[in-house]
Amino acid sequence: MNFFEKMQQHTGVSLNDVQKQAVRYSDGPLLLLASPGSGKTTTLNMKIGYLLLVKKVPAQAILAITFSKASAQDMAQRFDQFFGKLTHEKVHFSTIHSFSFQVVREYFAKQHLTFQLVEGGNDVPLHKKMILRNIFTEMKNTNPTEDEMDELLTYISYVKNRMLSSEQLGSVKSSISGISDMYKAYEQFKTQNPQHLLLDFDDMLTYCLRILQDDEQIRTKYQHRFEYILTDESQDNSVIQHDIITLLAKPQNNLCVVADDDQSIFMWRGSDVQKLLEFEKNYPQAKILTMTQNYRSTPEIVKTANDFIKRNPKRYAKEMFTENPAGKPIEIHNMQRYELQLNYVVQEIEKSSNPQETAILYRNNSSAIRLVDKLNKAGLPFYMKDVDLKFFRHWIVEDMLNFMRLSYNDTRVDILEKVHTKMNAYITKKQMVYLKNNNNQTSVFDQLQEVRHADYQEQALKKTKQLIKKINILDPEEAIKIIRKNLGYEKSIRNTAEHLGFNEEGLLGVLNQLEHIAVGLPNLEAFAKRLKELEEIMKTSWSNKGRDVVTLSTLHSAKGLEYDNVYMIDLVDGIIPSKDDLKQQDEDNNEPIEEAVRLFYVGMTRARKHLELLTYHLKDDEHVAESLFLKSVHRLVKGKSLVKKETSFRESKHARDIPVNAITKKEDLQLNSNVEHHVFGKGEILEVSGQAIGVEFESVGYKKFMIDVCLKQGFLCHIE
Ligand code: ATP
Ligand code: MG
Repeated sequence: MNFFEKMQQHTGVSLNDVQKQAVRYSDGPLLLLASPGSGKTTTLNMKIGYLLLVKKVPAQAILAITFSKASAQDMAQRFDQFFGKLTHEKVHFSTIHSFSFQVVREYFAKQHLTFQLVEGGNDVPLHKKMILRNIFTEMKNTNPTEDEMDELLTYISYVKNRMLSSEQLGSVKSSISGISDMYKAYEQFKTQNPQHLLLDFDDMLTYCLRILQDDEQIRTKYQHRFEYILTDESQDNSVIQHDIITLLAKPQNNLCVVADDDQSIFMWRGSDVQKLLEFEKNYPQAKILTMTQNYRSTPEIVKTANDFIKRNPKRYAKEMFTENPAGKPIEIHNMQRYELQLNYVVQEIEKSSNPQETAILYRNNSSAIRLVDKLNKAGLPFYMKDVDLKFFRHWIVEDMLNFMRLSYNDTRVDILEKVHTKMNAYITKKQMVYLKNNNNQTSVFDQLQEVRHADYQEQALKKTKQLIKKINILDPEEAIKIIRKNLGYEKSIRNTAEHLGFNEEGLLGVLNQLEHIAVGLPNLEAFAKRLKELEEIMKTSWSNKGRDVVTLSTLHSAKGLEYDNVYMIDLVDGIIPSKDDLKQQDEDNNEPIEEAVRLFYVGMTRARKHLELLTYHLKDDEHVAESLFLKSVHRLVKGKSLVKKETSFRESKHARDIPVNAITKKEDLQLNSNVEHHVFGKGEILEVSGQAIGVEFESVGYKKFMIDVCLKQGFLCHIE
């Protein structure tokens, strides 16, 4: 039995002729340029197996490079499924950054130099962001906004990944004047002490390349060690990453590059498809193979995605096709409101018999918070890729909690200090100084009545005192509305946005999210607890990996993966393409929109059997337009493989009917009573404490629910 027959027997995958050719072609450069789902990653894995089992290459002579840590893990997992039982050799799947780190460490040790990382976790003593914030503030005499910080970080990464010289810096567009000087100051700061350099992640690449170029001993060591180099998702390699790989592969150039130019989605971070397209020029003897048969998806999905990507004029012409049997039409749901979109996907997950085979994909991490809230309230666990907890540290969230703290105790001068400029009480700096000195443990508003104040402040102080007191007894949703409107917090946010150049819509979005999280909670304490809880749920969702739960992911992080069912949500103009994509677009540069098209394409091509695209007309009372990409999809399928639904659900959080024997009274949630959940099945109540209960289920183990949500939605039933 030859290798391929053996693999077919062992894995059930029978490689096609091109795939076999790619596997066998091991000596010399090979570019495998192929469509999504055509088996690039599969072929790359098989090729590694072939090298180990047939060519008897030792595992340590193979360098397999993937784009991110997560994809390195996914790849290792797939490899293990294929070859775990056939070989004990452990192949190392690495990111280019982790490989570079190894080279840098070795070089610094050799030179008796030390270095310190300024990135990687919150416990890094001197963080890149802190250094850049200081530089910005020093140069501009004002603190950077979050958007400016993001832009600065992206700029620096871009410049390094593209290896731009000082002269070329001017060609990079930016809304921050003097950004190139900030970059130079940053570089200078990190290299102040040549014996002890400060390095960020991108410096790993810069130094690695320089070391490989200059240190012959290290270069030849790695060139000899790695006889075979393979890189997946190579369309997202940056110029510098490409140069490192090219150098390492010398002199034998046993380099297998696997890529799809249509899935290049990191140009903004300095990736460069051009290098890929020049492969032939760099290696005139190179073998170039293309694959267009998609094994992943139904013809409905393949055809639509293939037609959609043709929107982009600059691409390697490929016609993706499939021989898979016909499936369901792509569904487009045009909801009346944002909320209904969330209700709908949550219901779909509830109904699903195999949530593990389902992914909900979104453009921005900020789409996840309200979704997570809904899923959790419905008692549905999930696995979230690249968790971003920025929301919970946002200053607006902190302000809101401070207003609430003040309402519990309005003698707290320290808390008032933090929010006094953000409400209509006209409290001056001088008055704050008075309060700090006075500190007599009575209401701060009463104390202010006793000092000199303008007439107009008299009423304002009385009103503010009343409102702040009121917040305490209202339910949190109402309380947030009062803080926003009556206390004047929203006005202060709009002012801040205008004067400091913050993105007003983004800030109001944070407020809206908070208001929605507050819905249905009994009091402020429960609200503060809920925020903590949501943060914790997101932070710990990694532990659900591999369990039978739905996956939540950004479109970027879903690259390379596949699921039976994919829901792409928030397909709204301004989100995809984003406002920035639209803004940056000009007559001779359509690149940002083209990248957004590729991102949309990556999303669509993740689905094996069923793809749903979701949009809506209204979000938080603002009208929004459906994504222009979605309009394209409409036009492409012209009703053939598409269900367009003007879906309007009833208002309830769950459109599911509450069963007759559902538990709807708190008294009935008794310790040790047996209950049944419509998704998790039978279980026993093992904990009833404060706001929550804990149930041990026979099928899925221990789960916690919020009592009031549980009663309102009636998802637990009595059983004898
Ligand atoms: P992407 O561009 O999204 O990363 P890809 O080209 O890497 O996709 P794979 O993930 O390797 O594609 O394969 C997609 C699916 O097709 C997998 O489920 C894989 O098992 C299957 N597949 C690949 N090659 C074949 C084949 N020759 N016969 C049957 N199934 C195959
Ligand atoms: Mg792949």
